[in-house]
Amino acid sequence: DENEETWLTGGKDRTQKNENRGSTVAEIERLAKQRDERRAQQDRVKKQKEMEKQIDPGNPNYQFLTMIRDYQVQIDYRPLRMTDAVADNKITVCVRKRPLNKREINKKEIEVVTVPNKDHLIVHQPQVKVDLTKYLENQKFRFDYAFDENAGNDMVYKFTAQPLVRTIFEQGNATCFAYGQTGSGKTHTMGGEFTGKNQNTAAGIYALAASDVFRLLSRDFKHLKLTVGCCFFEIYGGKVFDLLKNKSILRVLEDKNGQVQIVGLQEEQVMDDQEVLDVIRRGTDQRTAGTTSANANSSRSHAVFQIVLRKGLKQWGKFSLIDLAGNERGVDTAAADRQTRQEGAEINKSLLALKECIRAMSRNSSHVPFRASKLTLVLRDSFMGEKARTCMIAMISPGMGSCEHTLNTLRYADRVKELGADENGVS
Ligand code: ADP
Ligand code: MG
Repeated sequence: DENEETWLTGGKDRTQKNENRGSTVAEIERLAKQRDERRAQQDRVKKQKEMEKQIDPGNPNYQFLTMIRDYQVQIDYRPLRMTDAVADNKITVCVRKRPLNKREINKKEIEVVTVPNKDHLIVHQPQVKVDLTKYLENQKFRFDYAFDENAGNDMVYKFTAQPLVRTIFEQGNATCFAYGQTGSGKTHTMGGEFTGKNQNTAAGIYALAASDVFRLLSRDFKHLKLTVGCCFFEIYGGKVFDLLKNKSILRVLEDKNGQVQIVGLQEEQVMDDQEVLDVIRRGTDQRTAGTTSANANSSRSHAVFQIVLRKGLKQWGKFSLIDLAGNERGVDTAAADRQTRQEGAEINKSLLALKECIRAMSRNSSHVPFRASKLTLVLRDSFMGEKARTCMIAMISPGMGSCEHTLNTLRYADRVKELGADENGVS
C-alpha cells in the first residue's frame, strides 16, 4: 500500500518520535488507531461505490441515496475498536447494525443507517414534501456503544455480556437481551453466526459467555467449588416451554417469600465448552422444530438461555441471555386472525413490561412491575438486588424498507436508558 508507506514515514510523526522516546508506545497505538480508522473509511468508500454501481439514476430512491452520500462524506468516522475501554455500567444499552443481506441487495434496497463513531447512530429517514420534493430527516441517537456492520460477534460480546460474567461469581444476576424486529440479527448475535442456514453456535453470545464462565470457574474462583448448569426455555403466548424437555409446558409459581420458580425446569449439568454447545444445539433444534413455518414461530417467542452457578444445591448466581420475540407487532396491530392478534398483544405487553422493569431498576426503585408479563415474572431476579446487572442490544436492519421499525427499535432502546442526544458527538 503506497499511501500507507508515505504516510507512515511522514515528517511530523518521525519528529515526534525522535523528540520523546518515552511516548513511543502511545505513538504506535495512535498510528495503529489512525490506520484502523483509515481502513474502515476505505472499506466504506469501496462498498459505497459497489452499491452505487447497482443503483441506476432511474431508481426512484436514487435521489435519497445521493443525499445520504452527501451527508456521509462530511463525517469523520471513528468506529469502536477492540482495544477501546469497556465501561462498568449497571445497565448498558447499545445498538448493532447488520449489513444488508443478499435479498435486500437484489431488491436494490438502500442503506439508511450510518454509524459514525463508537456510540452514535444516524437514521436518514427519507421524506417527501407535499410538493413532492424529497428530503432527509436525519435523526441522531446515542447509546453506550454503537456497533456497525463490520463488528463481529466477538466484538459485540466484549462490550456487552463479557463485563457481566464476573457478576454471577459475586452472587449477582446478570442478564443480556437481544431486542429488535424479525430479521435484524438477534439469533445471529445470541445463538451464533449464520453462514447460509448453518449456525456456528460457538460464535454466539450464549457460548462465549459460557466459555468465560468456565475460565473464571477454574481460575479466579476455583476456591468457591461451584458447579455449572444450563437451562433453555421459550415463552410463547404467555406460556413457558422447556426446550431441553421436548417443549413440555411448565408452570410458573411465586412462593410466599416472593421467589419465582419454573416448576420442573430442566437444568443440565455442564463440565466444559463442548457440553454447553451440545445443550445450545439441542435447544435451538427444539425451538425451530415441529412447525410448518419455523422462522415465523421462533420470531413470536422469547428464548431464554440460562447459565446457573451452584454451591451444592444452593443457587449462587445466574446469567440469563434472552433472544426476544420480534418487536414489529408493536406497530402492526391490524393483524389478520385472532390468534395472531392475541400473540402480538402478548408480545407487546411483555416488551413494554420489560422496558418498565429496567427503568425501575435504573432508578433503584423498590417497585419493579415484574408481574406485568410472564417474561418479566420469570426474570424477576434480573431486576432486583444491588448486584443485578443488565445489558440490552438493540438490533437494526439497515435498509430503507425497515426504516420505521428501525426508528421504533431505537426509540425503545433510548427509553430503556436515556443518554440524551449529544450534539457534539457527531461532526
Ligand atoms: P432475528 O433473529 O432477529 O430474526 P437473524 O439473527 O435470524 O434475525 O438474522 C437474519 C439474517 O441476517 C440471518 O440470515 C443472519 O445470518 C443475517 N445476519 C444478522 N446479523 C448479521 C450480521 N451482523 N452479519 C451478517 N449477517 C447477519
Ligand atoms: Mg431469531
